[in-house]
Amino acid sequence: MQILGYHNHNFFCDGKEAPENYILEAVNQGFTHFGFSSHAPFFFDNPWSVPVEKMAEYAKTINYLTQKYADKLMILKSLEIDYLPGKIASFDDFRDRYSLQYVIGSIHYVLHPTTKEMLFIDGPADRFATNFQRVFNGNVEFVVKSYFDQTKQMIVAGRPDIIGHIDKLMMNLKQFFPADTLYPEWYTHEMEDLLKVIANHKTIVELNLRGLIKRKWHTTFISEFFLPYCKNFNIPMIISTDAHHPSEISAYYEFGIQLLLNAGIGSVAKWSAEGWLQEAIKI
Ligand SMILES: [Zn+2]
Ligand SMILES: [Zn+2]
Repeated sequence: MQILGYHNHNFFCDGKEAPENYILEAVNQGFTHFGFSSHAPFFFDNPWSVPVEKMAEYAKTINYLTQKYADKLMILKSLEIDYLPGKIASFDDFRDRYSLQYVIGSIHYVLHPTTKEMLFIDGPADRFATNFQRVFNGNVEFVVKSYFDQTKQMIVAGRPDIIGHIDKLMMNLKQFFPADTLYPEWYTHEMEDLLKVIANHKTIVELNLRGLIKRKWHTTFISEFFLPYCKNFNIPMIISTDAHHPSEISAYYEFGIQLLLNAGIGSVAKWSAEGWLQEAIKI
């Protein structure tokens, strides 16, 4: 089985170990492609991003490893970048400054469209609940719409190659949904609308396994429920472990493959210097 990993962290951001330790493990497991995608720095101090003064060293370290392991696997240099106008540099700024081979666009802070206050989507459930009440007045539909609108703006303005964990907001927000329905109709419509924009821009959606790996969520981001929609819209997919530790680089990967196949998705996107290609899934 060919393993392609494009979403991985390391100790320059909130990952646990030196980049080379991930590569040693990737070589060991037979990866053909391994991409580093540390969290890009904001204009404000952010505990889980690469400090801006460390960015040059981050890029240099990956360039060095790319050369050193060139005969073993393809190492790629990327960043996981938030879309938050005025609070972080543009995707093109990061692309140009650090010669990135691709960009993962992820939203970790939902911006209230009028007050411009930010809601952090991750972290403990009780802290999220307090902030959700404070920033979005506990309005579930409004926060989902704001989150998906922000994602659409990100696609148009930043043209990310990949959308990171597209519905991760649900991990902490689901507690505010009625217990008897998986997804209410309005939510499905919102998601469908977003997937149409993604399809039009030929953006890749990742099947992110981190919620499963950390046992914080019962399914993938994007939820497996929406994989048939991705199939219908012909959206290119990748499988991401979003590894923060070398031991996680292929965790649940085969499960991810199985979910794609079950939904009738028979290929994944594969990076090449000429652009992303489609690679048939072989098991
Ligand atoms: Zn993320
Ligand atoms: Zn990540």
